[in-house]
Amino acid sequence: MKLRGIGASDGVAYGKVFKLEKVIFEISEEKTTKPEEEIKALKQGMAETEKDIEGIKKRAKEQLSEEEAAIFDAHLEILKDPELMDQTLCLIRQQHYKAAKAFHEISENFAHLFEMMDNAYMKERAADVRDVSRRVLSHILQVSLTDPSDIKEEVIIVADDLTPSDTAQLNKCYAKGFVTQVGGRTSHSAIMARSLEIPAVVGVEEILSKVNAEDYLMIDGLSGEITINPTEEDLKEYHEKKAAYAKKKEQLLTYKDQSTQSQDGYHVELAANIGSVQDLEGVIENGAEGIGLFRTEFLFMGKKQCPDEDLQYEAYKAVLETMGEKPVVIRTLDVGGDKAIDYIHVSEEMNPFLGHRAIRLCLDQEDIFTLQLRALLRASVHGNLKIMFPMIATLDEYRQAKKMLESCQEDLKKEGYQVSDQIEVGIMVEIPSTAVLADQFAKEVDFFSIGTNDLIQYTFAADRINEKVAYLYQPFNPALLRMIKMVIDAAHETGIWTGMCGEMAGNPLAAPVLLGLGLDEFSMSASSILPIRKLMASIKKEDMEHLAQKALQCGTSDEVMTLIKKYIPRGV
Ligand code: PEP
Ligand code: MG
Repeated sequence: MKLRGIGASDGVAYGKVFKLEKVIFEISEEKTTKPEEEIKALKQGMAETEKDIEGIKKRAKEQLSEEEAAIFDAHLEILKDPELMDQTLCLIRQQHYKAAKAFHEISENFAHLFEMMDNAYMKERAADVRDVSRRVLSHILQVSLTDPSDIKEEVIIVADDLTPSDTAQLNKCYAKGFVTQVGGRTSHSAIMARSLEIPAVVGVEEILSKVNAEDYLMIDGLSGEITINPTEEDLKEYHEKKAAYAKKKEQLLTYKDQSTQSQDGYHVELAANIGSVQDLEGVIENGAEGIGLFRTEFLFMGKKQCPDEDLQYEAYKAVLETMGEKPVVIRTLDVGGDKAIDYIHVSEEMNPFLGHRAIRLCLDQEDIFTLQLRALLRASVHGNLKIMFPMIATLDEYRQAKKMLESCQEDLKKEGYQVSDQIEVGIMVEIPSTAVLADQFAKEVDFFSIGTNDLIQYTFAADRINEKVAYLYQPFNPALLRMIKMVIDAAHETGIWTGMCGEMAGNPLAAPVLLGLGLDEFSMSASSILPIRKLMASIKKEDMEHLAQKALQCGTSDEVMTLIKKYIPRGV
């Protein structure tokens, strides 16, 4: 059977289905006549859970980082909490509860207590207690849990959705690809799949009910096609596609150390988007000319508490030192929307993407923002740092953020720290109000980076992770192209540069139009850099200017697309 979703990360993959679904335990109410046996089962379950957590922690350390592994120390602490053990034993001995029922009841009480607390950080600990409890129950009841880091064979993961931290836990050796029911090309799980270079298809309705654990899946992350239990013929096609993909990748390597030039010699900069220090390997392998977007929020996610100034400083320094003289644009914290952080409480919102996120939250939570600004400023002496504020909607917000940055700079200097005096400060243009007022912003900022993932969602009023409105996600719509032109023109009239770090910059059909519109810097998933460099070398800036002029006069996305295909040489 063939199904189609949204191709989210290029490449083909084949493997056994691994369903990542929440397990529902059946906990018997029956009492026991042999409490000692239940106590033995409980202790054994806890000992096995400890081994599990230690194993996951070790893998997290190897694949991710020390900080990311620290979350599992918290899990071990919960597991070893004497109160949890004593109260469970009490229920077994005095009330003759079975081990699973007793442990479930006590751990739920614990989780509840956390939930009732006023402090947002403590509230979030309830999820950790439940996580540990699930593991213990799975051992007592001998039910296996689905956990992405437990996978030991080559599989295709099928899930309703993967959170960014689920995606970060995937072991590339085994997770050959993934398919999700929800999400679009710019959901964060899709963006991370591209960073990890794992083929992915998202937005496949009801896929969980259409496949079983015995099934095999073949996925094409470019076309979005999924084949359940492929035939011999299908598999032949898979091997051909796989070989063609590998060959294409190899050929592209010849572009690795070249600068990016159009056929008529016009230079643009191709930079990479990263989410962690670990992503730098792909950046170097793919010959990026800089980092156009470091999404720092991943440093803050999956942790017990906010990373302190020194820890952040080390991460920023590592990126700056690795990149040497090349520019590194580090974006300040952008949480909220589809990115949640345990210790920053964001109350339930009807429209999280329109809510208290990114710079709005940072200007409100000055402690967290100050820590980050200080860490960035201290790191500035280790490379070519540019600081960027996300989700700026008004000039007042920018001025407020800039003022905080300047005051941090003064404090640091007074404390005897060295801070570079060459740091450019820019903003993401991802809200239509800012695009429209770009000429005014251009007088005060050092650069713009257009965030089309959000700019499209706000321009067309279409949630970027809702596949039902994915048809409105229209990078080629002339409305968007005109807005981009306004931003680029405003920047150039004032003598500043404009980049783009939304996914559109790495789209091979969009990049030629953007070249024609005069975009200076294109920042994308590292895996898109070489194909785009090759593409640029085959087109002329002058031709693309004509194309852009015509595109701006079109009425629909389809008309623009048809036009682009006429201008781009075949086979590129
Ligand atoms: C964007 O909105 O285009 C962007 C690059 O930021 P993010 O995807 O992290 O929201
Ligand atoms: Mg954004």
